[in-house]
Amino acid sequence: MAQTLYEKVFDKHVVRQLPSGQAQLLMGLHLLHEVTSPQAFAMLRERKLKVMFPERTFATVDHIVPTHTKLRPYQDAMAEEMMQSLEKSVKDFGIRFFSPAANENGIVHVVGPERGLTQPGMTICCGDSHTATHGAFGALAFGIGTSQIRDVLATGTLAMDKLKVRRIEVNGSLRPGVTAKDVILYIIGKLGVNGGVGFAYEYGGDLFDRFTMDERMTVCNMSIEGGARCGYVNPDQTTYDYLKGREYAPKGAAWERALAYWESIKSDPDAKYDDVVRYDAADIPPVVTWGITPAQSVAIDGSIPAAESFSPDERDSVREAYAYMDFQPGQPIAGTKIDVAFIGSCTNGRLSDFEEVVKLLQDGKHQVKPNVRALVVPGSVQVRQDMIARGWDKVFTDAGFLFREAGCSMCLAMNPDKLQGREICASSSNRNFKGRQGSPQGRTLLMSPVMVAAAAVTGEVADARKVFGIAP
Ligand code: SF4
Repeated sequence: MAQTLYEKVFDKHVVRQLPSGQAQLLMGLHLLHEVTSPQAFAMLRERKLKVMFPERTFATVDHIVPTHTKLRPYQDAMAEEMMQSLEKSVKDFGIRFFSPAANENGIVHVVGPERGLTQPGMTICCGDSHTATHGAFGALAFGIGTSQIRDVLATGTLAMDKLKVRRIEVNGSLRPGVTAKDVILYIIGKLGVNGGVGFAYEYGGDLFDRFTMDERMTVCNMSIEGGARCGYVNPDQTTYDYLKGREYAPKGAAWERALAYWESIKSDPDAKYDDVVRYDAADIPPVVTWGITPAQSVAIDGSIPAAESFSPDERDSVREAYAYMDFQPGQPIAGTKIDVAFIGSCTNGRLSDFEEVVKLLQDGKHQVKPNVRALVVPGSVQVRQDMIARGWDKVFTDAGFLFREAGCSMCLAMNPDKLQGREICASSSNRNFKGRQGSPQGRTLLMSPVMVAAAAVTGEVADARKVFGIAP
């Protein structure tokens, strides 16, 4: 019977059906970071358990690392404690650690793919919501909680319900100045933050076929923001070209065997989906969020929508968003003054994200507005080194950006990069919840990296196509 990639990969990893009705699923790759793992390791120690598959378990540090200095001990005692706890655990349990000391660290969802750990047809888990990123390779990748981290460390398996599958098809070409970030914000705007509950999202259509792996990662990364448990793109030559030669990618005969497996797990052309939605890429504008969920967004030339244009059950959240963000219905989003600009995160902290901005800044005609604090934070040390090798650090600093060390930085602000008071941040990250960026009153406007750059140099939300003269 014809099947989707989700069904094929899920079925191949079932160890047994549990009395609860869930399936016990073998995990092919477990990624760890410092924030969600300490309690899980503590539970393992309490029960005198070992890590079942240390060779499939990898760790890095991302949320707590300061991006203005690499000095240890960290000034924040709790951050230093978390770091030391992870250092001890990876040593005690024999886990490979991509550490700052070895210049190998970065955001877990950037490091996994760039090392070639993330591969098609795998089951992947990590104690972080944005694990869906890895679905860009045709993997089933799930964010998990602390007790599940313990379970996976101890057994290499996870108890899971089977999801429904929604195919989200986007065909046609994006207009110039419109990016993968706009695509996923547009999709979430259409389907809502709860639209994906109970679903895996399969992204298909010729737009995603043409997308690079970085663009696919940006889209899959935010599946969780649309309520989906995971999101994926079927693997293809783009996937294989990205993986070939990377450190943990299969080599020689193993590569050929892997290729055969990867081809076999693609969704069948006549696979049945629980739901299918289709969009035309040409309809997608540059998108900016105005509210407190990633679905509360408008086109850059749009206005804050009236509460009446939402369904009755959404109106309370919309009114809460007006009050928190200090927006009035009918007010244009363009022209909103910003205080901070942030380009980075596991959504948009990869080399190609910065490349798109560098192309716009390298003529030296644009400078960050004096009242704006603008941060460029590479997603990993590898990305940072690649940027420096290309001279992009200088392009950014010449334009007035702060060029930082790798980390999550202002995405979640579990480190010194935080908003202050009521500051407004134009951010290439993935969440605009109240207080997300470190100040309980701070405000976040999500957008693409090129739109953040446009906001940085104008001091307000602006259409990057007009600011940088991107031909229509
Ligand atoms: S960049 Fe943001 S969303 Fe991604 S792992 Fe770090 S804190 Fe989480």
